[in-house]
Amino acid sequence: MKGMNYLAMMRQRCPRCLKGAMFESSFKMKSHCPVCEFKYEREEGYYTGAMFINWFFAVFLIGPVWVSMLLTGQSPWLTVIVTTVLLLLCTPLFFRYSRVLWLYFDYYIFHPE
Ligand SMILES: [Zn+2]
Repeated sequence: MKGMNYLAMMRQRCPRCLKGAMFESSFKMKSHCPVCEFKYEREEGYYTGAMFINWFFAVFLIGPVWVSMLLTGQSPWLTVIVTTVLLLLCTPLFFRYSRVLWLYFDYYIFHPE
């Protein structure tokens, strides 16, 4: 994508100034960029779309593990336990990156300044 800064994205930084952090803690997002005052939550329910990205991450990253365990004849309980643990471990990452992606897509594609 043109002009999109992947490094800042990986580091969960503000899409505008690329410096301000986007998160306060694992599951808490800041309302504004601490550096340039860019508003992260642009409107009510702005992050509803991020939930779909979150779901997409879960299906496409955990799904293959689940399928390959089933195909290699692992016990169903082991399969459930492994995928559940994996999902729990990945949830903070999925949560953060789904929001980061959503904000970047919006900023660079739909509402460039
Ligand atoms: Zn900023």
